[in-house]
Amino acid sequence: MDGDSQTATLGTGATAEPVSMLVEGTVVTMDAERRVIADGAVAVAGDRITEVGDAADLRARHPDARRIGGARRYVIPGLIDCHNHIAQALCRESTVEDFPNIYRIYIPAEAIQSTDDVRVSARVAFAQLLRAGVTTMTETTCTVSHEEPIAETVMETGIRCALARGMWDRESRLAGNYEQITGKSWYRDDPAALADDLDYTKEFFAKWFTKGEGRLRPWVHNLGVPSCSDERYLATDEMVQEWGTGIMTHINRDREEVELSVSLFGHRPLEHLASIGALTERLVAIHAMLTTDREIDLMAEAGAKLAHAPVVCTDIMSAVTRVPLMRARGITVGLGCDTIINDVLKLMRIAHIMHNQAAMPLFDPYGFSCNDAFEMGTIDAARLLLWDDEIGSLEAGKAADICVIDANNVRLTPSTDPVATLVRYGVGTDAESTIVAGQLVMHEGRLLTIDEDELLDEAEALGARMIAEMAPRRYVQLGTNVDYL
Ligand SMILES: [Zn+2]
Repeated sequence: MDGDSQTATLGTGATAEPVSMLVEGTVVTMDAERRVIADGAVAVAGDRITEVGDAADLRARHPDARRIGGARRYVIPGLIDCHNHIAQALCRESTVEDFPNIYRIYIPAEAIQSTDDVRVSARVAFAQLLRAGVTTMTETTCTVSHEEPIAETVMETGIRCALARGMWDRESRLAGNYEQITGKSWYRDDPAALADDLDYTKEFFAKWFTKGEGRLRPWVHNLGVPSCSDERYLATDEMVQEWGTGIMTHINRDREEVELSVSLFGHRPLEHLASIGALTERLVAIHAMLTTDREIDLMAEAGAKLAHAPVVCTDIMSAVTRVPLMRARGITVGLGCDTIINDVLKLMRIAHIMHNQAAMPLFDPYGFSCNDAFEMGTIDAARLLLWDDEIGSLEAGKAADICVIDANNVRLTPSTDPVATLVRYGVGTDAESTIVAGQLVMHEGRLLTIDEDELLDEAEALGARMIAEMAPRRYVQLGTNVDYL
């Protein structure tokens, strides 16, 4: 390969700092041309990528730079997780086949954690993600007191984060869910709670846009139509526009939620958001399994995005999200670990198998390709987070968020197509080095920002305590009046 022309084509990022690191291997850029460079390298100066090109050429021009990666390594964009709940990290195996697990497991698990406990949960989740080459995660909080400790742990551990702070100001009930119907469905909004929460959110945004050093971007998490007023959706949309971020919302997830929306408003949850003007390009719909053709059209017209958690999608057991159709309509879809599997490479494979099957009735063998799955954990995930000017691909000028995959083994070698190989055969532990904003945070199997021995002891103790404290709450009979968050 002609190194000079390659480097010239890909451009040079402007930075005053010298190149400190060359990350070498087969470079999967995920740039607009989907360029894959054999014997390539990514040059890093400060927190930026300055050049992407031929390794020999870059080595000759930057002889003092530290060299990471090498032969039989894939250099890929840092992977991106579009949906997670850190406070639920320590109870993941309890949720299997214990339904409805949101009410039995996840909500009790969050409720019993102190602010110190949630720091442990956060370190566990971040350690799992960084070890799996995930450089950006999306936290969707449900407990206000957890937000500051999570943000602080993001800064300590070196991961990048879209932190969507949780908000709700509506109480609602779906009549006759598990028992005899005794009344009508209803909802009640709380304008005072909304005003207080908006004030707090403004402070949170102003604080963390500064303290986050470009690595933490505050978002809003409006829990869902059953829990959030129309006024909240519209007011928070105005707020996030000022900051260039967006709103995450759990939507079209459960039958009960859809039934509640239909009974209260005469239309389905996404139709409801469209009717009030809250379905925009800044809205990320989480899950959205029960989305109709009309709602898919509304999402596509508005430019709304989908955060798709393929494992939780099957755990909730309502339907498989119609990802191939949504992508075909131009909707941006990103993958979410959602606590269960903090490994984006594994999720790519699960999504590929799941949606290939779903696409089969269309008689379209290319219905959902490995490349589609890979995009959903890299460049499309960055687009979903409105952060693709910085992350999601390896290009000069972008943030240096890079994952090095060790392919020096028979599972990943030989390969003529790194993307297909990684989607079909890769796992998170193949990550050899993880770099976030130019900082090496995991290298040769060691986390550099987290004391893992200490963390394992803390996690074990907290996990055992949580299971004991949750026990009395797990099998309480769910009555008629269940909160649908
Ligand atoms: Zn969620």
